[in-house]
Amino acid sequence: MTYDVVIVGGGISGTALLYLLSHYTDLKNICLIEKYADIASVNSHGKNNSQTLHCGDIETNYTLEKALQVQSTANMVVRYSQSLPDMQHILSKTDKMVIGVGKKECDFLRDRFTTFSPHYPSMKLLQNEELAAIEPALMLGREEEIVGLVTLDEYSTVNFQNLAVSFVDQAHKAEGKNIDVRMGTKVKKISTVGTTHTVSTDKGDIDARFVVVSAGGHSLLYAQQMGYGMEYSCLPVAGSFYYAPEILKAKVYTVQDDKLPFAAIHGDPDVLEPNKTRFGPTALILPMLERYNWKTIPEYFKVLHLDSKVLAVFLDLFKVKEIRHYMIKNILFEIPIIRRWLFTRDVRKLIPTAKMKDMHFASKIGGIRPVMIDKKNRKLHLGEASIDTGKGLVFNMTPSPGATSCLGNGEKDLRRIVAHLQCRFDEEALLKDLK
Ligand SMILES: Cc1cc2nc3c(=O)[nH]c(=O)nc-3n(C[C@H](O)[C@H](O)[C@H](O)COP(=O)(O)OP(=O)(O)OC[C@H]3O[C@@H](n4cnc5c(N)ncnc54)[C@H](O)[C@@H]3O)c2cc1C
Repeated sequence: MTYDVVIVGGGISGTALLYLLSHYTDLKNICLIEKYADIASVNSHGKNNSQTLHCGDIETNYTLEKALQVQSTANMVVRYSQSLPDMQHILSKTDKMVIGVGKKECDFLRDRFTTFSPHYPSMKLLQNEELAAIEPALMLGREEEIVGLVTLDEYSTVNFQNLAVSFVDQAHKAEGKNIDVRMGTKVKKISTVGTTHTVSTDKGDIDARFVVVSAGGHSLLYAQQMGYGMEYSCLPVAGSFYYAPEILKAKVYTVQDDKLPFAAIHGDPDVLEPNKTRFGPTALILPMLERYNWKTIPEYFKVLHLDSKVLAVFLDLFKVKEIRHYMIKNILFEIPIIRRWLFTRDVRKLIPTAKMKDMHFASKIGGIRPVMIDKKNRKLHLGEASIDTGKGLVFNMTPSPGATSCLGNGEKDLRRIVAHLQCRFDEEALLKDLK
């Protein structure tokens, strides 16, 4: 048989699309292919990301426009989860804040409060003792001024794996549909003859009228095998974490440095490890498409295409002193013995009394953000990237905040599919349910 749509990748992106197609279109035959035995076991697993529903209020690297965009997709996740009887396993309320330390950062946050607070009515601007009333550890042993943009008691913590599993469960419940979820099935290559695409897997070929590949960094590999997305290369940025005994009840973020696009550690209560606070992520450049999977090193070199344009991007990054130092520091963060000492020094920006003996490297925890390199413009393409071939084939790469934006990104793909296959889309129902 020929499926209407085949989705490659059973992470949060692929499963969100499966749910949307099953509920809001009249497409009957949809197949999802995942190489592992479990849904969302790579970057979308809670151990590998920061479990944060990004709403734009504490992420100081976002412009107001980007923040509002992210806020609206985050709201879709909240609306969806609220419709489930067991939402407490997916989404929970946690206090959250971003703190500025020292005059420059404090002034920056005061300015940001003026611009952002009209759009975030629950946001409060608090300082020193007011912050200590919420998170005492922030002020213990601290002399300098701190300011925080704080939002109390809002949905901000997500178990993205449970969310992905619920998308699949809900898709199976859609009436009159053939939802075929093939676990433990690895895609080898994709080819096209006429208007039919053939997805070749280790368990045989699967034909489809539309294919969406949401396979993390591997999406670029499959696109390039077919001659698409040659204008991109990839910079995989791995993130490691450190555990400490429960010091924080809230998610506490720090102000991002403009020159370091994926930096700034934060502290989060961990949904998978109650009674622990998780600090991180670090930002380590690693030549692999999937963390702790050494077999993906040769695959990375296939998408790297190290030519003069890619080298120019690397050189531009290295020229900036702050980035150079940060890259070196992040290598040291992985080296036993010195890493705890170095990382504890950074954590002291958040918790001045943090002790090295309490900080433990979280082994085998943390995924990879596949950051795209835009070869044409010789710069990093931060955020999501999508290659739409216009021929019924889409390839998605989704670094942070890709998990938060799963339903927003899924809606974009749904609209592409509806336009290409000319099928029915119940937009009114989607608006009513999720927006
Ligand atoms: C350290 C870190 C912290 C982060 N924190 C946050 C956060 O707090 N909030 C947030 O919103 N986002 C966060 N992100 C980003 C978020 O984790 C990702 O955007 C999101 O998980 C991407 O989902 P995905 O489904 O696109 O990819 P993945 O979750 O990586 O899923 C891809 C799937 O494709 C499958 N696959 C790959 N190749 C094949 C193949 N050949 N055949 C079949 N299947 C295949 C994989 O097995 C995998 O299941 C973080 C990321 C990192 C690394």
